[in-house]
Amino acid sequence: MATTLKTRLLVIGGGPGGYVAALRAAQLGVETVLLDADRLGGTCLIRGCIPSKALIHAAGYYQDLAESAKSARFGIGILGTPTLEFAATMRWKEGIVDSLNGGVKTLLRRAKVRVVSGYARFTDAKTCNVETPEGPTTIAAEHVILATGSLPIEMPGLPFGDHVISSTGALSLTEVPRRLVIVGAGYIGLELGTAFAKFGSAVTVVEAQNRILPLYDAELTAPVQRWLEKHHVTLHLGAKALGMTDGALGVETAQGNRISLPADKVLVTIGRRPNAEGWGLEQMGIEMSGRFIKVDDRCATSTRGVWAIGDLVGEPMLAHKASAQGNMVAEIISGQRLRFDAAAIPSVCFTEPEVVSVGVDPDTAAKREEVLVGQFPFQANGRALSMDGGATGGFVRVVARKSDHRILGIQAVGTHISELSAQFVTIMEMGGVLEDVAGIIHAHPTLSEAFHESALKALGHAIHI
Ligand code: FAD
Repeated sequence: MATTLKTRLLVIGGGPGGYVAALRAAQLGVETVLLDADRLGGTCLIRGCIPSKALIHAAGYYQDLAESAKSARFGIGILGTPTLEFAATMRWKEGIVDSLNGGVKTLLRRAKVRVVSGYARFTDAKTCNVETPEGPTTIAAEHVILATGSLPIEMPGLPFGDHVISSTGALSLTEVPRRLVIVGAGYIGLELGTAFAKFGSAVTVVEAQNRILPLYDAELTAPVQRWLEKHHVTLHLGAKALGMTDGALGVETAQGNRISLPADKVLVTIGRRPNAEGWGLEQMGIEMSGRFIKVDDRCATSTRGVWAIGDLVGEPMLAHKASAQGNMVAEIISGQRLRFDAAAIPSVCFTEPEVVSVGVDPDTAAKREEVLVGQFPFQANGRALSMDGGATGGFVRVVARKSDHRILGIQAVGTHISELSAQFVTIMEMGGVLEDVAGIIHAHPTLSEAFHESALKALGHAIHI
């Protein structure tokens, strides 16, 4: 016989959206049940942000050693060649995932969130059935937060399997593929492609658009393209993947030629789709916006008391957006009046070099109003040079409204610049103007001085260029 569980709040999905919502709700005294079919932490922690960044870090370390073995860098050489025991690298990466997964479990236990393991199937908007390890359970709630996340998109003619893999497959490979072909030059494909190129794979990228990282402007992604080309990653831009024949990917190039790319693995990273099927969404009477669940600026769906957050509700599909929405909905359920009105959501791409973007780029801003743009190259930044990051062609760029100098966007590309995203988004959230940045004393020598100089440049008085 099914057990019945009644609760004030039921959260479906324990990713960065769902588990943050559950923790915040519990902090506020809301009786909460969190349901997940898989390991707590969701895509981000188990098969996304964290394991990918761990592999990227390990790959960078291996490549540094390999380069030092070929020719001494900074006067430091290595006798012999470094070895890669990929299974141990993957165990190290899994250790980080396990530790963070354990941390989420502990936080939820301490906050007294009741965690139920199993796959939810809704029978109406506020009731779902779940097969738990303890037996069938029916859960009914006053409020439901849907945070079921997203799934990798499969390409017609290239179904995921042993040979054709998604990012999840790439993060659980048992060996470094000798020849890796990547379909899709978005951030997930290029982050993983960069890591595997550093591990020694011969990487080829096939992208339908005529440039890499199409969501960023071309000037910002040029240093990344240069790095890929310099490191023998073959790029087929404006090209169409056709399908697999005899272990090779058929491709139609931008010039209309048909070529065949032999591959040990083909990694398809052409985007992610909301996970909105197979769990009874159709029983809930919820309006959709295309493939995403439609929500208002409080993340309320069209059904009263049902909320949706994270990748399920649209772009940007990023962990920190999911968490911010989860936090807000928990506070609304506990009685606060709030709206999701982020002045800026930063996006970071952990390629080589890294890319950060907050707010609008110069072209987008210039279509709306007159703007000032200030750009400062890392080549003229002491800290970048002292970290061997001066020669990548990287820069920081600030875009501001001409009339009142209000900052509308900040973009940067360069080695180790992901950590600058916090300063960029802080100044934008606080409604900063160029003079604010110009008046702040930035520590020397740091990469942040390039941001200071970009604001000075926009004001017409940069010091170091
Ligand atoms: P998810 O994290 O997808 O969690 C959804 C959860 O719901 C899952 O645990 C799933 O098991 C559970 N679930 C689904 N259906 C049911 C059901 N019916 N019953 C019970 N449980 C269910 N974002 C960044 O911000 N920075 C990055 O660097 C970054 N890197 C990434 C790298 C990769 C390779 C990938 C794939 C993604 C990356 N992302 C990154 C995106 C990020 O992972 C997602 O934006 C984020 O995880 C979305 O959070 P979410 O809570 O909406 O959903």
